Amino acid sequence: MQFSNLDQFKNVVKDYVVFEGKDVIFAKHDNTRYRVMCAPTCPWTILCSWAHDLKSYQVETFIDTHSCPREMKLGCAITKWISEKLALYIRTNPNVEGEDVMNHNTIGYGLNVSSNKVYKAWGIARDIVVGFEREQYGKILIKIVALLLK
Ligand SMILES: [Zn+2]
Repeated sequence: MQFSNLDQFKNVVKDYVVFEGKDVIFAKHDNTRYRVMCAPTCPWTILCSWAHDLKSYQVETFIDTHSCPREMKLGCAITKWISEKLALYIRTNPNVEGEDVMNHNTIGYGLNVSSNKVYKAWGIARDIVVGFEREQYGKILIKIVALLLK
């Protein structure tokens, strides 16, 4: 599996571990390598590093065996992760309400997250969507002004 950058790798791993219910440790080595480990007694680990011949980041080591139980409460920046997923959901469902947000989160990912955390993530998600829309609106406005000035 190849990645264009380490953030892309980290996002894919985060989706995977949240879906699996694992609380992992993201340990960036440097700008060319990134390791993710599970609990100290669990063998699960994944290491991604820069592959010169492929000109991309590639998974170098992947031990996909857990000896740890499923975690229902994940600490790996879960609010930010939920807010990013909710931002995608809000873009396609702009009239979403609070109860819809709870159902989307718990049904879609099987997480046991407090309602306070979900509402906090919902607020962040709305800010992400509004920021994106402002950015898009600004780009359109610039194009319109450029056309009018011709
Ligand atoms: Zn594990």
